[in-house]
Amino acid sequence: MRLSQHFFFLLCLVPVLLFSSVTILKKATLQKGELHLSFTKPYNKNTIRHFSLTNPYREVFDLKNVHLANKKVGKGLHTGACRSIRISQYRKDTVRIVVETWKKYRCSAYQPLFSFTRYHIPLPRFSHADRAVHRKKQKVKKRIGRYLKSHTDAVPNRYTLAKRSHTASLSRREMMALHHKERIVIDAGHGGHDTGAIAGGKREKDLVLQIAKRVEKALKKRGYRVSMTRRDDRFLKLPQRTRIADRKDAKVFVSIHANSVPRRKRNRVHGVETFFLQTTRDAKSQRIAARENRAVLKGAGSRLSKKVIIDSVLNGPKIVQSNKLAIDVQRHIMANLRKYYRGVKDGGVRHAPFWVLVGASRPSILVEVGYISHPEERRRLFTPKYQALIANGIAEGINSYLNNRREEIDFD
Ligand SMILES: [Zn+2]
Repeated sequence: MRLSQHFFFLLCLVPVLLFSSVTILKKATLQKGELHLSFTKPYNKNTIRHFSLTNPYREVFDLKNVHLANKKVGKGLHTGACRSIRISQYRKDTVRIVVETWKKYRCSAYQPLFSFTRYHIPLPRFSHADRAVHRKKQKVKKRIGRYLKSHTDAVPNRYTLAKRSHTASLSRREMMALHHKERIVIDAGHGGHDTGAIAGGKREKDLVLQIAKRVEKALKKRGYRVSMTRRDDRFLKLPQRTRIADRKDAKVFVSIHANSVPRRKRNRVHGVETFFLQTTRDAKSQRIAARENRAVLKGAGSRLSKKVIIDSVLNGPKIVQSNKLAIDVQRHIMANLRKYYRGVKDGGVRHAPFWVLVGASRPSILVEVGYISHPEERRRLFTPKYQALIANGIAEGINSYLNNRREEIDFD
């Protein structure tokens, strides 16, 4: 062979020599949203087997004829974009890289130009929101699993039998309706410069926030999701309250207040009352509504005319459902309190045009947990035990309402 032929032969041989034998993966680093691999020798990317797996979603790369330089390579690769990145000596001569992600993504890995010793794997660009959604889904899955474990006999019930008597199997949506707990909105009345009623140095806004937080806890314990209109001492304008109240997925709205009467009546008037939204001629309900509405009226300004309010009252929330919810809640509060306390007055269920409930297009009630103007009731209201009994009563009332009326509520 002449020299030129030798040269040509060598030239053809170069890639073969370069890519044939085992190479070492010496480094794996995260850079600019990519996983960068560097080898000790040029590496033929065509020997990489790239495929994906689901549940959870994974991009997998099998690198043939590769050894890990040491056990540290590929450890501690953490990025918010991925659930995990794992690198291991999968087989004697194969390194496996697994990129596990929050949801499906398509990646085309590449060798940078003129750099045969490097290989880059682009990672997904997921936001925190994606991760939050993923976690939520996992939680619901777990909750359903737990429920089914403890209620194996409860799967077919009146709801499904009535709707789908022709088949025993449940659709995914029906499963959700059965086992997925609904969202409840809890509204602690007043807040900030709007103190609500004041008596004996105690303020309504503080009391109702304490109880609202207990209700939240009690509902969460029962598996419900809870939205609070406020968690601290702040003033909320009417639109802010109703915006939270009108969350599309909320099934029930409960506003918590405490009542009060003028000094001359304070020793006589006490007890628990639950209201649902409706216009009323009942003078007492009107008086209480006027008092509770005062701050809201100030906040609402002149844009809301009286007519608008009245219209939405008449066409507003599901009054029958609200009435039923009120009955359940009142009943459970009373049952709880009377187990431990004497002389708690059952003020019953009433209807009143409370402004805070206007615009809430779901069963909505307002609980007056007691009269802070009454010395004995005020003392009780600020004790943890009394508050816990009320809060549990509200949670139990909501729970029993939703269980009993499940068929009547539109779950869409
Ligand atoms: Zn109030």
